[in-house]
Amino acid sequence: MNRKDFPIFDKQVNGKRFAYLDNAATTHKPQVVIDRTNKFYSSDYGTINRGVYKYSEIATEAFETSRKIVANFLNCQKPKEIIFTSGTTESINLVAYSWGLTNLKKDDEIVLSVSEHHANIVPWQIIAKHTGAKLVFVNIDDFGLIDVIDLRKKISKRTALVGIVHASNVLGGVNDVKTLVKEVRRINRNTKILIDSAQTVGKMRVSVQSIGADFLVFSGHKIVGPTGVGVLWIREEIAQNMNPFMGGGSMIKDVTENGSIWNDIPYRFEAGTPNIAGVLGLAAAINYLDGIGIDKIEAEDQKLSDYMMSKLEEKKIDFLGPNIAGSRVGIFTFNINGIHPHDLASVLDAEGVAVRSGLHCAHPLMKKLKLDSGVRASLYFYNDIQDIEQMFIGIEKAKKILKV
Ligand code: PMP
Repeated sequence: MNRKDFPIFDKQVNGKRFAYLDNAATTHKPQVVIDRTNKFYSSDYGTINRGVYKYSEIATEAFETSRKIVANFLNCQKPKEIIFTSGTTESINLVAYSWGLTNLKKDDEIVLSVSEHHANIVPWQIIAKHTGAKLVFVNIDDFGLIDVIDLRKKISKRTALVGIVHASNVLGGVNDVKTLVKEVRRINRNTKILIDSAQTVGKMRVSVQSIGADFLVFSGHKIVGPTGVGVLWIREEIAQNMNPFMGGGSMIKDVTENGSIWNDIPYRFEAGTPNIAGVLGLAAAINYLDGIGIDKIEAEDQKLSDYMMSKLEEKKIDFLGPNIAGSRVGIFTFNINGIHPHDLASVLDAEGVAVRSGLHCAHPLMKKLKLDSGVRASLYFYNDIQDIEQMFIGIEKAKKILKV
């Protein structure tokens, strides 16, 4: 669907049609997003919040309109709850440093799932070292989803924060975060909850109001937006009581030699000159996705996922995560007996097919699954059946070349 909107696909790779199946890592950009960032630099350029001249005013207005577009996309009624960052990684670090450093005490517990991306583990390890808080890991069940029974066991009056992934970038299963949030709140209503939606925003309807967490994060580049821009949603009551992560221009109301008075939210968390082109490009990406319709995008992802699952099953290739239609996003991690994932990825590249091989920034999960490595093929709505077919033709070639 809509492949023609993406100029990259006019190119061939190694003399072959380009079948891009690494969308969990990053997505390609439609012409409208490229045009928007180009237009900013070529005809609208100015910095935000500072000048009273025309181009600063144009940039400021476009930047704040983008905030409203993101808020609307996440079904958030308050644009001031939207903070622009450089991506999911920075968003989680912002929560860890701003909220964590101030609020976590010795022996408090930070509960994470074993299926988290490193971006939702390492910042907490750093903050735990500073504060004396402890990390506690929740297991996954047989479908690769966060085990709700184990989650219940791990939540206690010591649980200060729960950080969980909406859909793992390795397993693809969509965790029922709304229910998980309710379970956590039932046991400890003071626990703060962070949802890593890097693999769900832009693929399905994500509503911060419906999920009911306190923090939610995603990256622009995974939803056809530019790199270097991402979002952190913080519930207003929490944001109002948080100190900034970084100090600098724009995040203060006043600075004296003795100290500073923080600006209002969200500006308090956006120190320095931001990635204005990135933010405008992200808004263009969201407008583009909304133009297609997020429900249509989700349906396409399901259709392609069903096709991928049936082909993997037909070829007797086991894949990680749930095998039930409707319970996953289009992320498939698998191994072919006798072929190293890097070798398979190289043969596929020669066939014009881009997949990922390795540990996918999820070492604790891969260790738990006793895997040294895996091939990951991940879909987005602009993929088609031909991309998937091309991958399976490549797999057959790899088997012949590598004689398995
Ligand atoms: N969390 C998840 C689930 C991810 O898939 C990723 C990217 N692979 C990240 C966090 C980190 O995102 P970024 O590199 O854009 O900050």
